[in-house]
Amino acid sequence: MSASRPLLSPALRLALGIVSLLLSLMLLVDMAIGVIPDRQEAAIEIRQHIAETLAVQITALLHSDQQPLIRATLDKILERSDDLESVAVRRRDGAIIARAGEHARHWRLAPEAPSNLRNVRVPLLASEREWGDVELSFRPAYPETMIGWVGDPLIKGLLAFGLGGSLLAYLYLRRALQYLDPGSVIPQRVRAAFDTLGEAVMVLDNEDRVLLVNRAFAKIHPQAGTDPTGKPVTALKWLMTGLGDKGDAYPWREVARTHEAVRDQPVELLAGENEHLLRILLSAAPILDGGNRVRGCIVSMNDVTALHMINAQLLDTVHELDQSNELIRVQNEELVRLATRDPLTGCLNRRAFFERVSELIEAASRNGMQLSCIMSDVDHFKRFNDDYGHAIGDQVLQAVSAALVRGVRTEDDLVCRYGGEEFCIMLPGLSMAQAAEIAERLRASIEAKAAGGIRSHPGLRITSSFGVAEFGPDVADESQLIALADAALYGAKRAGRNRVQCAGQGSDVMA
Ligand code: GH3
Ligand code: MG
Ligand code: MG
Repeated sequence: MSASRPLLSPALRLALGIVSLLLSLMLLVDMAIGVIPDRQEAAIEIRQHIAETLAVQITALLHSDQQPLIRATLDKILERSDDLESVAVRRRDGAIIARAGEHARHWRLAPEAPSNLRNVRVPLLASEREWGDVELSFRPAYPETMIGWVGDPLIKGLLAFGLGGSLLAYLYLRRALQYLDPGSVIPQRVRAAFDTLGEAVMVLDNEDRVLLVNRAFAKIHPQAGTDPTGKPVTALKWLMTGLGDKGDAYPWREVARTHEAVRDQPVELLAGENEHLLRILLSAAPILDGGNRVRGCIVSMNDVTALHMINAQLLDTVHELDQSNELIRVQNEELVRLATRDPLTGCLNRRAFFERVSELIEAASRNGMQLSCIMSDVDHFKRFNDDYGHAIGDQVLQAVSAALVRGVRTEDDLVCRYGGEEFCIMLPGLSMAQAAEIAERLRASIEAKAAGGIRSHPGLRITSSFGVAEFGPDVADESQLIALADAALYGAKRAGRNRVQCAGQGSDVMA
């Protein structure tokens, strides 16, 4: 449907067209073979005949020299003929010897001029010679005004044929067009209601022909101005292209098959006058009659292009936000790492270590949880620095700390770089004996594997000494616990290094 509907309905336009054609045909046939009688010729003949009959009578009266009777005859004929305006008998010398009506006013013919439709002259013969003329003046044969023409029988007939024929043709076509013009089955008020909707709406019949499209539909229809009403929906190439080749699964077919509405199918269309990309949600609902039979389908298209763009922008923004959140998270992690870890070995620094250790001590004091401490120190570390340089010394520290971290429980145990080449390890839930076992494992691991981490100087001998202590009623706090472990470590050093010593064993004393 185009935005402006024509003033006359298609049926009325067709009816008027057909009747005009018939009238034109009639006139053409008449021009060719003269079907309508020539009224002018007929009128001239009749008028000539009247004039001649009168001339015969007057001639007879002239012979008997009965002038009064001539005048009476003229009066009578004027009275009886509606067509006559005046009549007169004129002598050869021009004198009028008898007349009826206002002859001077109506008689226009010059003396020698031939008769015409209005003024007819017939010669009167007396004794074989022309005595004079009888002159008859007739009313006009054809109407001289518009109103006069309306009264003309031929025009009346044509008008009656035109109007009556148009009416009959219109009534007939109105019925017939319901079949030929499917759109006409939808009442005007329904169209008007659809036109108020913002969504594009199309109504299809059971043969998938378009019965109606509303104003919003006309806007997205790329061939603006062409009315798809009456065409099969498959003729809407832009729509069919957008839907893709669906075989029998087009929404309106599904609706006809299932009697169920199809809702919000996303479709991308190249639509509108400049065929721009539209994102629409297409819905289709069946039109059911009283007997629950599907009589057609209402297809609606909701243009969500703008919404889609906003959504896409929103998604982009959310994505950017996620990315910056992730960056912040990574940076925060890095900050936490920098604040809590030793940069060379990655072990806890003393501040972070003591924060956590005090929590462990508190838990151990409160609920009797076991807690052991291992102090470890690299043996003769100074020599690595002295013999191979500070960088190799650093690598030895990294190899030793890696062995320590690998050898304890990731979640529970705390490994701290306590001093230059000293490490302190807290083992919650473990007794001193268990901690000593772990210390022994760590010691063996350093001895066996730490040197492998120094690629540039294979074969270095790296060992560490260990002192172990446990928290108990006699231990006041973390400092005392660490001091006990450190004393045991001192004992291990004195006993020859590369060994484990527990607090209270051997010759450990407080340093
Ligand atoms: P012992 O077996 O008795 O522990 O002998 P040691 O040589 O390991 O002990 P000492 O305390 O004499 O030497 C420790 C050296 O560690 C002194 C110091 O220069 C060095 N050191 C401390 N921190 C670092 C560090 O971060 N990197 C390097 N390369 N050396 C360090
Ligand atoms: Mg040392
Ligand atoms: Mg030391």
